[in-house]
Amino acid sequence: VKWRGKNGYQYYEASMNAMFHKKLSMENELRRAIEKKQIMLHYQPQVDVETRKIIGLEALARWHHPELGIISPTEFIPLAEETGLIFSLSEMLLGEACKQMQLWEAAGLLNFRLALNVSPQLVEEESFVSKTLSYIQSHHLKPEFFEIEITENLLVRDLENTVAKLKALGKHGIRIALDDFGTCYSSLSYLRQFPIHNIKIDKSFVGDINTHDESVPIITAISGIAKGFKLDLIAEGVETLQQMKTLHKMGCNIMQGYLFSKPLPAQNITTLLKRQANL
Ligand code: C2E
Ligand code: CA
Ligand code: CA
Ligand code: CA
Repeated sequence: VKWRGKNGYQYYEASMNAMFHKKLSMENELRRAIEKKQIMLHYQPQVDVETRKIIGLEALARWHHPELGIISPTEFIPLAEETGLIFSLSEMLLGEACKQMQLWEAAGLLNFRLALNVSPQLVEEESFVSKTLSYIQSHHLKPEFFEIEITENLLVRDLENTVAKLKALGKHGIRIALDDFGTCYSSLSYLRQFPIHNIKIDKSFVGDINTHDESVPIITAISGIAKGFKLDLIAEGVETLQQMKTLHKMGCNIMQGYLFSKPLPAQNITTLLKRQANL
């Protein structure tokens, strides 16, 4: 058949080759970026809307590429997961987070929790619990100041093993948050078995709250689930006052989003924390 002729095939092969090489060079660049510590954390406040206080920060990775500028984690985290670079990257970021927390503690500003995103591969790694704890403890920090954000897709993989690890972290005081809640379909059955403390309403629901009627019953249901299971509830991606008000009416007090603050470099967060402490 003509359209599958030799030229078409060659074209296909050539573009596969180009893709392969592009990926390979991205992988090498990512490896170098980790070594050179060009990837760092920004921090986004989680605010109690009743007291207006920052009660938590979520750490979010940013790649400061010398030519391309800031690269989003939605681009390099999947690549890091595919190539196994996620292990060295996560370890580097955990070290950075602990160092920063130590600075905030020394400045008398540490009265909030730091939430760290972890990839499923990381949790599944054998030494995940001991490594995480040893980083925290070697920086003389209390595990109670840390929260681990996991997503539902972790829960479908190796249930028993994962439950055991999350429980072990919980025993040391590290809290577990279930991120992007509601975007996977089998959440409810997991909630019974999972040692989690906190659920985060995905920003896709929050974004639709005042324009799509379907979001409201979903968020109402999630809020009811949180109450029933005695879990904390965070709404993420809150951008407008109207969204904030609607969420508050539905029983959600803790919020994160551009309405309060974008993810910011540590120094800017320090300024916010000092202002909050009247320092
Ligand atoms: P996520 O954990 O769901 O993080 C929330 C995302 O929403 C962040 O995107 C944040 O910047 C963004 N966001 C916060 N407030 C608003 C808002 O009001 N409106 C809108 N439209 N967006 C908002 P970001 O920083 O690009 O991170 C994307 C994803 O990359 C994260 O999604 C997380 O899954 C992953 N990620 C980020 N850092 C790390 C990391 O250190 N390790 C791992 N494993 N994953 C990470
Ligand atoms: Ca998250
Ligand atoms: Ca999320
Ligand atoms: Ca997400």
